Amino acid sequence: MTFRRRAAASSALALTAALTIGACGSTSDDSTGTADGGAKVVATTTIWGNVAEQVAECAGGTVTTLMPVGADPHDFTPSSADIATVVGADLVIANGLGWEEGLTSALDSAAQDGATVLEVAPLLNPLPLAEDDGHAEEEAVAESGAAAATEGEGHSESGLDPHVWLDAARAATAAELIGKELATTTGDAAYEKCGTDVAAELRATDEQVRATLAAVPADKRILVTDHDALGYLAAAYDFDIAGVVVPGGSTLAEPSSAELATLAATVEQAGVPAIFANSANPSALVDALAGEVGDVEVVELYVDSLGEPGSGADTYQGMMTTDAQRIADALAG
Ligand SMILES: [Zn+2]
Repeated sequence: MTFRRRAAASSALALTAALTIGACGSTSDDSTGTADGGAKVVATTTIWGNVAEQVAECAGGTVTTLMPVGADPHDFTPSSADIATVVGADLVIANGLGWEEGLTSALDSAAQDGATVLEVAPLLNPLPLAEDDGHAEEEAVAESGAAAATEGEGHSESGLDPHVWLDAARAATAAELIGKELATTTGDAAYEKCGTDVAAELRATDEQVRATLAAVPADKRILVTDHDALGYLAAAYDFDIAGVVVPGGSTLAEPSSAELATLAATVEQAGVPAIFANSANPSALVDALAGEVGDVEVVELYVDSLGEPGSGADTYQGMMTTDAQRIADALAG
C-alpha cells in the first residue's frame, strides 16, 4: 500500500464531455469484450464492469474489465497491455471524477482515437467531498465540462466525490446510461431495454440495503472510514460521517499524527463501536486509529472493488447488500 499524492498529467474531467458517438464495427481478434458488430467494450473497474456486464449479457454481448478484483482504482497503474486495451476500445465505461487516476492519459488517448468514453459519475448528480481538499476553486472546470480541457492536477481537483456507486439508486441510473450508450455504439436497441431491466434490479437492491440498514438506530448512524468514500452511502441511507483517516477523497494521502489523534478523540467522543476499512486498500492507519481509540472494532467493507468470487460481494448487488449487512451488524448491536 502507498500513501502518496501524485499529480496526474491531465485532468480526467477533460473527458466528462467526451460522451459522443464512437466509432464502431472494428474487428476484434483479441480477448476484449465485444458487443454486437464487433464493437469492443471495456470497463475500467470491477464495479462498473459488473454492472455493464449484466447489461451487455442480457443482450448477448460481453464487456472486458480492466482492473482485477481487489485493485484500488485510486492507485492502479496500467500495464502497456492495459493501455492498449483501453486505447483500442470502441466504448470505454469509466467512473471519472479522478477515481481512475492512473488511467487519465489512456482514457484521453482512447477518446482522441475516436472511442466513446462514458464517464458515469459526472452524470449522476455528484456530491462535493466532505472535506475541503484545497482545490475548490477548480470546481468551475468540472461544471463547464469543456471538451479538451487539460488543465488541473491531482485526483480530486473537481472537489467532487467519485464514489457514486455506493448509492444504489445512482448505480441504477448508471445502468440506464450504460444501456443507452451500448445501444448507440452497437446500433442494437436491445441494450437500452437491458439497461432498464438491470436498473430495476438495482433499485430493488437499493430497497434491500435501506431495509437492512433500518436495523441501525438513529443515534448510532455514524460512520468512520479509512478514506472519504462513504459520502453517497451516508446521504442516501441517512448516516453521518464522523471522520476519515485519509483525507481528500483518494486513498493516496497521509494524515499527520495530530490529525490521527484528533480523529481518535472524535471517535471516542462519538462512542462509535466500529471503524470501517476498505477491502481494496487495507490501511495500517485504520488499525493505528483503532489502537489509539481502544474499544473499537475494525470492519472491512467493499468500497472501491467487488469481492473475490464466492465472497458474496462478487456482483454489484452482492457488494452493496454485504456492506449493508456488515454496517448493520457492527452498529446495531
Ligand atoms: Zn475510494
